[in-house]
Amino acid sequence: MSRKGFTLIELLIVIAILGILVALILPRFADVREDANTKVCVANLRGLVSAMNTYEVKENTVSTWDWGTYAVADLETWGYLADEPNCPQGGTYTLDTNATSGDAEAVCSISGTHIWP
Ligand SMILES: [Zn+2]
Repeated sequence: MSRKGFTLIELLIVIAILGILVALILPRFADVREDANTKVCVANLRGLVSAMNTYEVKENTVSTWDWGTYAVADLETWGYLADEPNCPQGGTYTLDTNATSGDAEAVCSISGTHIWP
């Protein structure tokens, strides 16, 4: 007489193996998500610096403009930025001028500073 189907022990072993595989894979998904959020943030910072440089070129203030007294919303108000970007990591963006080079720089409170280019 032949049996069809699985025994309880066989099912438990399969479930245990699946559980171990899921436990191994889940942290990798978290890492990938964190990497993606960092890349989106850096892309946002590049967009901000690009808008800042466009402003400097159009207003003829290259390397003489002090960005430290302005906010991201000002770029939007002046028409150099379509929408104020949001950091996917929950950081806030500020604008500044690099003390050494005088270049425009955008800063995220979580992932740091980006200077042109
Ligand atoms: Zn950020």
